[in-house]
Amino acid sequence: MSDARQQQLFTPEPVPLPFELAAEADRLFAQVVFNRPLEDTYTYIVPDGLRERLRPGMRVKVPFGRGNSLETGYCVGLTREPPTSRRLKEVAELLDREPLLSEAMLDLTRWMGERYLCGWGQVLETVVPAGVKAQAGTRQIVCFVPSANLAERVAALKLPKKQQRVVDVLLAAGRPLTGPELAEAADCSPAPIQTLREKGLILGMEGRSELDVATTGPVDVEADLVLNAEQQKAFDRVLRCIESGRHETMLLHGVTGSGKTEVYIRAIREVVSYGRQAIVLVPEISLTPQTIRRFRRRFPSVAVLHSHLSDVERHRQWKRIEHGEVQVIVGARSAIFAPAPHLGLIVIDEEHETTFKQQTTPRYHAREVARERCRREGVPLILGSATPTLESLQRARDKHDLFLTLPKRVEARPLPPVSLVDTRNDPHVSKGHSIGRALRNAIDLAIRDAGQVILFLNLRGYSPVLWCLTCQAGVQCPDCDITLTWHRDRQKMLCHSCLYEAPPPTACPKCGHPGLRYIGSGTQRLEAEVRTKFPNARVLRMDSDSMRKPGSHDEALEAFRQGQVDILLGTQMIAKGLDFPQVTLVGVIDADTLLHQPDLRAAERTFQLIAQVAGRTGRGERQGRVLVQTMNPDQPVIQFASRHDYFGFAKMELESRQRHHQPPFAALARVVMRGINETQVQEAIKGVAATLRAAIAAEPEPAAGSSSGSSWRPVKILGPAPAPVLRLRKQFRYHMLLTAETPEQLATLWRRVKSDIVVPDDIEMTIDVDPVDMR
Ligand code: ADP
Ligand code: ZN
Repeated sequence: MSDARQQQLFTPEPVPLPFELAAEADRLFAQVVFNRPLEDTYTYIVPDGLRERLRPGMRVKVPFGRGNSLETGYCVGLTREPPTSRRLKEVAELLDREPLLSEAMLDLTRWMGERYLCGWGQVLETVVPAGVKAQAGTRQIVCFVPSANLAERVAALKLPKKQQRVVDVLLAAGRPLTGPELAEAADCSPAPIQTLREKGLILGMEGRSELDVATTGPVDVEADLVLNAEQQKAFDRVLRCIESGRHETMLLHGVTGSGKTEVYIRAIREVVSYGRQAIVLVPEISLTPQTIRRFRRRFPSVAVLHSHLSDVERHRQWKRIEHGEVQVIVGARSAIFAPAPHLGLIVIDEEHETTFKQQTTPRYHAREVARERCRREGVPLILGSATPTLESLQRARDKHDLFLTLPKRVEARPLPPVSLVDTRNDPHVSKGHSIGRALRNAIDLAIRDAGQVILFLNLRGYSPVLWCLTCQAGVQCPDCDITLTWHRDRQKMLCHSCLYEAPPPTACPKCGHPGLRYIGSGTQRLEAEVRTKFPNARVLRMDSDSMRKPGSHDEALEAFRQGQVDILLGTQMIAKGLDFPQVTLVGVIDADTLLHQPDLRAAERTFQLIAQVAGRTGRGERQGRVLVQTMNPDQPVIQFASRHDYFGFAKMELESRQRHHQPPFAALARVVMRGINETQVQEAIKGVAATLRAAIAAEPEPAAGSSSGSSWRPVKILGPAPAPVLRLRKQFRYHMLLTAETPEQLATLWRRVKSDIVVPDDIEMTIDVDPVDMR
């Protein structure tokens, strides 16, 4: 349904009210938003019973739409000003005892709705974790901890079986457990827990006090390192910024292993010493256990927000943060919303990672939200990377942000030499092997020298293509325009875009001929090849298939660190942030896979990936080297990557982006429409394009000399056209790109035309501001 129609449908209907006679001055009105793509706020009367309790940031139930059914909304403001228009309905129910977020965070979420062209309520729905919403209305949670010397005390007691189990579970947990958690783990009813509590053997704690115990498991505290001259220089600049008390964004470019994390830690130490809090965003928690451990070793109270937290645990962390009990918050993208009341600093590590961009509504980028949050709170933001995005680099070149650099690895360790291996004429590769002759020799040598090897391949599964010799085409998913990948371990063909899976066909589903060939290699086939070629090596594969259990990454990486594995092979997962001193060889199986993606950032991603993977070697005393297999050894991006020449690459790529009016020299929004009926999708998107073009044509040219400011005249529309993946999950997809000089121009245009856009019911429209995924 289109937003315009939704809006009509849900406009509150006038109903007779018993409040007509109340003196205007005494009346209080609540502004409410809903989890819908609506920009407007709706006004409701706050009944007497709620006047004392309702505050902005709480959820309410209010009558909404034709049927006047009760809907949950967020109160975003209170006012005594009666709205001019019509008679109003009343807030029916208040759901929360205290606001779910502060007024400052409310303001930030409003900004997000405006920036990312979605409803304020949709943003709120995402920003407040489910666990926090679920707990906000109920009583405080009770957590249980062992009493002092519990183990010895019960040893002398001979408890009934169930009570003993509760005690064992609690002792083994090493952290406070809620009643339901404890009951579930001990497989009992609440009764034995209650009995133990009455006997004083376990302690139940309400409110805040229990939280300290939950802080963190034990870690050894570590002292800070002495910064080297370059780190010190960067840190001094950061310090000036912190002391100035003003917002500034600093881009810390430091090659892999240059000691960026050490600089973050010092900066955090500084703000913590003033009683402030710091938020550290990392790309993916499960992939960065080392980084997290490092923060926990340096700061006594760290809250880690990751996707495996239970709702209860997340709520508890949220409350600790809100009460200022936590100095450092480490988390993935959504930790940017951590309710730190005394924020002093935000750090985004590996700022180039695309995981900082959310791929569902609200499609925000954590870096941009961080920038805005820091600006509003007047605190510094540090963005760190060995391969900063061109957006961030350009901001520094334009002097909007400060540029800091760590050009060398710590302790004068050299960056590893990178050799490009042309696989076009390799005898092994032409026979279908993944490992060419040169790489094979290098692996042999590395293992003989007792070094460790990392092999990187960006495709999971066994074979990415099942090729029909008659059709001369790969077998595709019936629901998507994507070839099916053969997963030998599961004996299934899988679609990596939807959940489709099927046993391998014996004949081509299209033409019925039996001549099918398994072509290409994913990580599973690479693993098989490695095991055949190096029968004595200990091999470990890391990809999302082999690492499905929570905690399995950490285990695998630990095994590698301990030297129990000789060859670690896998997807992106192994490219990120790992620091293993014994790795002497990194092999990139196929550097070309990313290069040919239909995406304006294909070159940038290729450069980043090679640089990051290469960064995994030569980090200890031992020298490391990198072999990159490619069929395009002369390709400039691959050339720059092989020389670790970030600035050379950036210069070339920025020039090209500028020529083509692409980010960072333009603001971009992508409109995607999809539905089952292709013609209907085509017609619908043509309609939207026409509406947009008409609005642009009707807008007067900005007067000569005046800045184009909020005028949407400069907006250009590219397309509509079929999306690169035309069919996905049975739906046809068409897209178009809106480009402008600034995001404001896009936003004003969109707001202007929004109510004129009509989307048929069975077609879905999404708008993605600053898209990073163009499929
Ligand atoms: P980056 O985050 O830039 O990849 P790290 O901060 O992880 O770099 O540092 C790389 C390695 O160098 C780590 O093992 C770290 O402990 C070590 N290191 C960092 N700074 C120093 C220093 N000043 N003196 C000695 N070792 C350091
Ligand atoms: Zn599919």
